[in-house]
Amino acid sequence: MTLIDRTHRAGGSPQASAPLLRVSDVRKSYATPQGPIPVLKGVDLTLAAGESLALLGESGSGKSTLLHLIGGLDDADSGEIMLDGVRVTGQPDAERAALRRERIGIVFQQFNLVPSLTVAGNIAFQARIAGRFDAAWQEELMERLGLAALRHRYPEQLSGGQQQRVSIGRALAIRPRLLIADEPTGNLDEATGDEVMGLALDLIARTGCGFLMVTHSTRLARRLDRQVTLASGVLAGA
Ligand code: ADP
Ligand code: MG
Repeated sequence: MTLIDRTHRAGGSPQASAPLLRVSDVRKSYATPQGPIPVLKGVDLTLAAGESLALLGESGSGKSTLLHLIGGLDDADSGEIMLDGVRVTGQPDAERAALRRERIGIVFQQFNLVPSLTVAGNIAFQARIAGRFDAAWQEELMERLGLAALRHRYPEQLSGGQQQRVSIGRALAIRPRLLIADEPTGNLDEATGDEVMGLALDLIARTGCGFLMVTHSTRLARRLDRQVTLASGVLAGA
């Protein structure tokens, strides 16, 4: 995004509303036989609705840990994560699962498609569970992701790039408020990764959801609105 775009966007929404996502002083340790290993040591982060943020950092710096906490897959030791006015942290597992189902789309490096379901079945799967299936939106997702002609195929009949496009469709099918992606292009070659990211960013802009992506590629990171780096358990950068 250029400076002009940014200025224009800021100017277009003068009323400062609460951010979509607010991470406040989040801490997380893992128990090991040698004692607890602190991974996140007071992470602060905000993301506005419709904003995209790249999360960079060395392997083992805690990027997946932070994404898992934001996505409600695990809970923090302390601190608070608020998404769309709802507290993610300190909730029972069932509450976090419901929040995930309704508001958060997740894309993993390993695609994680259901092998026994077709392309169309995979995209519809979570939306149906959440009671948010929308046939027109499902069709638009398949069109825009270039999957319409592949709708009856099974994951094993797809390339890596095609599988990742299905997993993006699945994540967006619920019309999430926030999409999080953990190294979504990590298993793809550069050209395929670029293509998948282009399609994803276009759809994300259409849904207006926030987007948080872990990547090792500074080149891909620059395609998002902001970049932050996790190091020594805290976030740096703008
Ligand atoms: P990144 O995604 O940045 O590579 P992770 O969040 O996966 O980093 O891991 C951060 C640190 O926490 C690493 O040292 C990792 O070994 C450790 N870790 C991650 N998950 C667990 C776990 N379930 N139990 C113990 N240690 C873990
Ligand atoms: Mg990771």
